[in-house]
Parts: sequence; C-alpha cells; structure tokens
Amino acid sequence: MRYVSTRSENSERVSAAQAIKQGLASDGGLFMPLEIPKLEKEDFQKLADLDYSERAAYILSLFLSDYTEEELLAYCQEAYSENHFPGGAAPVVKVQENLSVLELWHGPTCAFKDMALQVMPLLLSGALEKTGEKRTVSILVATSGDTGKAALEGFKNVKGVNITVFYPTGGVSRIQKLQMATQEGNNVEVRAIKGNFDDAQNGVKAIFSDLDMGRELDSRGYVLSSANSINWGRLVPQIVYYVSAYCDMVKAGNVTDSVNVCVPSGNFGNILAGYIASLMGVPVNKFICASNKNNVLTDFINTGVYDRNRDFYTTVSPSMDILISSNLERLLYFLSGPDSTATYMDELKKQGKYEVSEAIKRAVSKKFAGYFCDEQETENAIQKVFNQNGYLIDTHTAVAMGCAEKYRQETGDSTPMLVVSTASPYKFASSVYKALVGECPEDEFEALEKLKTHTGVEIPAPIRDVLNKKVRFDRVIEADSMKLEVLDILK
Ligand SMILES: *Cc1c(COP(=O)(O)O)cnc(C)c1O
Repeated sequence: MRYVSTRSENSERVSAAQAIKQGLASDGGLFMPLEIPKLEKEDFQKLADLDYSERAAYILSLFLSDYTEEELLAYCQEAYSENHFPGGAAPVVKVQENLSVLELWHGPTCAFKDMALQVMPLLLSGALEKTGEKRTVSILVATSGDTGKAALEGFKNVKGVNITVFYPTGGVSRIQKLQMATQEGNNVEVRAIKGNFDDAQNGVKAIFSDLDMGRELDSRGYVLSSANSINWGRLVPQIVYYVSAYCDMVKAGNVTDSVNVCVPSGNFGNILAGYIASLMGVPVNKFICASNKNNVLTDFINTGVYDRNRDFYTTVSPSMDILISSNLERLLYFLSGPDSTATYMDELKKQGKYEVSEAIKRAVSKKFAGYFCDEQETENAIQKVFNQNGYLIDTHTAVAMGCAEKYRQETGDSTPMLVVSTASPYKFASSVYKALVGECPEDEFEALEKLKTHTGVEIPAPIRDVLNKKVRFDRVIEADSMKLEVLDILK
C-alpha cells in the first residue's frame, strides 16, 4: 500500500516504512494511505476469536504491506504483552446500562498513548532496516504531558534512535512532570519550555521544516523524525482498539447493530483513528468529539469554522489543552481531497482560521457531534460516575462522560455508547480527589494515597514507583531556543 500527502496526491508516493520513518510529508502535509482496506463480516468473526496482539497484527498488516505478517505479529506480541499491559491491552468495561468504557490506560505510563507508542518504535526500527537507513534517527516530541512520557518509555534504549521531548513547563501535572524528569535510558533528553503546548508543537514543526538545519544534522549523521500523532506509525495502531472493542462488545452481547463512540479529544488523533475504523467497516453511528474548555473542535463541528484565535485555558484535563488539532487535517483530506486541504491549512497558518464549504460542513455533522465540558461539568461527571456506578475515571475520561450524557439528552439517541477512557485516574489524582471530596490535597503525592483510601482503587505500579526514582532532567528553556537546544544535544 502506498502513502500520499494530505496536501497533494501527486508529489510523493511512499511505502509505509518510508512514511513512518519520515513522519511528515515533504510539503508539510500528513501521510495517508491511498485506500482504506475493508473488513467483511467474516473478518470480524475471525478477529473476535483472536487475542489483542493477533487482532493488532492483522489490522496492521492490512495497512503496512511492506512488513511481513510474522514481523508484525512479533512486534505486537512484544508491545502488548502482559508485561507491558497487565490485565489486558484494551479491555471494555460495561459501566451503565447501554454504556461501556474502553480502557486504554493499562500500559507502562497509564495513558492511552502507550497503545501506539509501545509498538511504534518497533515499526520504526523495522522501517530503518527496510529503507537501508544508516543515520541515527533523532525523534523530537512536543507533548502536553502524556505523549512525552509514553514516547520516552517506548523509545528508551532502542538502537539507532534517540529522543528529545519538549513539554510546556506550566502545562502538565506534577506527576506527569516527574514521570518525564525521572526517565531512564541512555538515548533520552527532556526539556521544559516557557510557553504552552502549541508553542512546543510549533517549535518542533519549525525544526522539521528548516532545511538548513536538516543538512547540518545530516552532516553529523542524524535524521529527524517525529513520534507525535501526526506520524502514521502512531495512528495506525490506534485503529486496532476500535475494531477490537467492537468485537468484544458484540461478543458480550452489548451491541447488536451500531455503536456511538465518544472520544476525549485534543489533537484529534484518537477519534480520527476511530473514524478510519468506521471506514473499514466498524458500524459507528456517531462519533461524539468531546472537548474541554478549549473547545475549538466543538465550534468547528457545529459551525464549520476552525478558529484558533481565542484564549487558551489551562484545565484539569491538560492533555486536551490544544488549539491546533493537527489530525483534523486527515479528516479534511477524506472529506474534501488534497487541494482544499492544502488551502485550509494555508489559511490556518496565515490567519489562524478557516471555514470549510457547506458540503464539508454537512459531511462532518453527519458523522460527528461536537460537545464540550467546562471545569465544573468535568468534576460533576467524576463525582456522578463514581457515586452512581462505583467507577473511578480521570479528568479526560470525565469530559467524555459528560459529553456523552449531553449528547444523549439533547438527541434522545439510544444507540449503545462506547466511551473511550484515556488515562488512569491516578495520573490526575489531585483533580480527581478534589472532584470527589471537594478539597484539594497539598501535594499530588498525598493525593494518590488519599484517593486510594477514599475509593479503594489500587494505584497502578508505574505511578507508585515514580516517587522513588531520581530526577535526571530539570532544564527549562525559552520556546524560541528549541532549535539551538537540539543542535546542542545532537553534537
Ligand atoms: C493525548 C490525550 C488525549 C487527546 O487525544 P488526541 O489524540 O490528541 O485527540 C486525551 N486524553 C488523554 C489522557 C491524552 O493523553
């Protein structure tokens, strides 16, 4: 299968391995497969009897035709092993009548980014071999918290690769910060920047598009790549759990026909993977795109106008504090083709804003509903789900729960709902505890213990263990010195 840029179908057609190695297309667009493979009824029946690694290997093989099935199965069995995902990779839990939750946070960093970032480094290693790459691949990551740690865990000590993570200094939780600052591995660097997530992401994008810098690094034996969700290698493993969840819901008798899927969204990668799963044949009636107070996606879905010229809020769901949702570009490509996509992206760059055509607006609202929760509504959702169902959720999942409920009340749509749960409640323990009890613990680590005592839910081992690790990285830099920093690291 060949891959093309979302901004021009003719300039560049590359293999999956090349797309994964390169990260971004050379015209600044994102890589997309030229066609979407389809799953038939028999495929779903077959997949239902497989375990998660086998399901993953099968779905990946449909997209990554330059990898063998044996390779992919080996990668998936390593990535999704009991070791990395104790208790299963993507369990579906029935929480209310007609509402199930897809738990994507049983991996080594307790957030859904592990689902992709445990396997993506293996895909990248394979890609380096397949493309005869001799240079060291240097991964640059901008993170609003969870991606950074998950990428560090996935890439640590991987041969032929090193990784540098930038995070906004005030924009992540204390546990997230400590998780990154204590990262182990001989090929990792972590920097805090003065700015927000978009500053970090723009800084990384600017480095990628700086040709002089590329030449300089090349002469030093390095080639840059990304592990952000703009990389196809990040996105394709996320398609798997939507297929997997549907198989499990059918098996459990919790769905007979179609489902609604509610996804807490920021960069739009997770929900976009779900959309691709639906194009493959998973019968999704509606995607509910759930945002926090940074509701740029809600407005886009409801009005067709994407406008990032607005106040930026720091919320209790920091991994969704995003004003530029990069993967929306892939949806535009599906709905309008490369030419319009290139135009919209150009407008976004120049004016921070674009408005899609009436036809695209209609196509978007046919498949997507946009809702958001403010901070109070997020807290209310945590409280309500715990009190009524005895089920503990984190702040991001709470946004989705709140939005799923709003959607149901406004539309009366009673299609079975699958809510995607993206982080362990312990990753955001202070906010969760405050939502339940009303008082904010002094310290995030005190919050872990208090939350455990209050709820009886166990603290996941990776979070418990971070307390005993040594801080290795505490450097804070200006957002506009990221380029110099990278040149300094890759001496
Ligand atoms: C990254 C993240 C999200 C947002 O996912 P996108 O793919 O960026 O839309 C939501 N919740 C958590 C916990 C995350 O880490």
